[in-house]
Amino acid sequence: MKETIGRALHFIDGEFREGIAGKSFPTLNPVTNEEITQVAEGFAEDIDAAVKAAHRAFHEGPWHDMKAKERAQILLRIADLIERHGEELAYRETLDTGLPIKQTRGQTARAADNFRFFAEMTTRMTGETYPVDESFLNYTIRRPVGVAGLITPWNTPLMLATWKIAPCLATGNTAVLKPAEWSPLTATKLAEIIAEAGVPKGVFNVVHGFGETAGAALVAHPLVQLISFTGETTTGQEIIRNGATTLKRFSMELGGKSPVIVFADADLDRAVDAVIFGVFSLNGERCTAGSRLFVERSIREQFESKLAQRVQKIRVGDPFDEATEVGPLIHRNHYLRVQEYIRMGEEEGAKAVVGGLSPTDQQGNFVQPTLFVDTKNDMRIAQEEIFGPVLVSIPFDTEEEAVRLANQIRYGLAAYVWTRDLQRAHRISHAVESGMVWINSQNVRDLRTPFGGSKMSGIGREGGHYSFEFYTELKTVHVALGDHHIPKFGN
Ligand code: NAD
Repeated sequence: MKETIGRALHFIDGEFREGIAGKSFPTLNPVTNEEITQVAEGFAEDIDAAVKAAHRAFHEGPWHDMKAKERAQILLRIADLIERHGEELAYRETLDTGLPIKQTRGQTARAADNFRFFAEMTTRMTGETYPVDESFLNYTIRRPVGVAGLITPWNTPLMLATWKIAPCLATGNTAVLKPAEWSPLTATKLAEIIAEAGVPKGVFNVVHGFGETAGAALVAHPLVQLISFTGETTTGQEIIRNGATTLKRFSMELGGKSPVIVFADADLDRAVDAVIFGVFSLNGERCTAGSRLFVERSIREQFESKLAQRVQKIRVGDPFDEATEVGPLIHRNHYLRVQEYIRMGEEEGAKAVVGGLSPTDQQGNFVQPTLFVDTKNDMRIAQEEIFGPVLVSIPFDTEEEAVRLANQIRYGLAAYVWTRDLQRAHRISHAVESGMVWINSQNVRDLRTPFGGSKMSGIGREGGHYSFEFYTELKTVHVALGDHHIPKFGN
């Protein structure tokens, strides 16, 4: 499919609009670094218009007091429409981000799943009852919170946006989405789909723009009750600081540098497959990437050599080619940052046995999948999130050492363990400092299970009822069942 992409506009109060200041910025094709189209640039006044529309829709509109079943039907229509426009969404995502088309198709299917899943959940919301001292019945209900600010990153932008929008709307809130400035194209299409599905005007709004202007204005807006943020740890810290004045509720899904621990007794062929997929799929731009490999010393040479042979054969190229496994990185600045890490790794004394620095004269943002051996855990390439197709390998001798090395980092998002020893697998899962652990598995996930990180990788969990807890206010209702004692003051 090939499509002419028009300007990406804001979507405010049911209408596509240019920005109030009339400014725009380009979004670029990572294969050529040429402009795809212009994007309306939002500032505080556009955010204000979107938040006020969402606030009006929350208080005046039918959304939050609509029957859950009706709301669910609208969300199911969104899922159907995402599927109907799946090829176009995948095309836009690949064009904008450089993610291989096969992978963006998978992400698009997942976006539809998100709406289906939360649509069903909304009809099954329950509360708790507390029979209190015979004369009272206390119970809890969950009410929508109000206007939500949803701030998303450029990696898998469509899927990640829907992971927030679906539970947010399902629970009756209204929303303003501020998509990442490097990947605005699917958000605009999604707004069209959401409107076509019958979501009332003002319930869902999109304002494009940069973090320091549009994003910061959303965080500071007094009518916004909660911020769901996915992005870098440093940005999350700044958002928490800026949102403190208006005491926002935060969900923070932040950076990661996740360990994969491979023991000698593991199914090594499967472990090789999983290690490679875990760090090189999605161009390495994956928050849960297993980018730090800890391998038991007795199999180190064998395992690294198997890895090297396979990494060399990874197909890097045109993201629209069905055979491509790794496409260009999203943006020239990000490409340069990843190159800088590869240079730094070599300077620090690690050895790139596959990949390494890319030719400087290429037009696109292609990075060769890179495997570093002879890496030490305190090197910057082993400690900092590179967010590209770069894997570092570090040997260990004992289980205790593997856990200690894995935990010597500020992040704590995901961890992966490969062993056939059941007891050891569970011991490590308990000891490793991360929000999620996969045993003998790559990153497969059921939408009911909690997703999120510990340490500097985040605050809170999303997924299943954890998302509903974040997007709803828990209210306790105290009901007197009889004439209980009321102290008589001033009698
Ligand atoms: P980023 O932090 O640079 O930007 C994310 C979003 O925040 C963008 O929309 C940006 O415009 C906005 N923003 C920037 N400054 C802001 C400010 N001061 N106020 C409000 N908004 C602001 O992140 P990125 O580079 O787009 O994404 C990559 C990062 O996201 C990586 O660190 C990755 O690990 C992380 N990530 C985490 C998860 C997770 O679930 N834990 C998932 C995906 C990505």
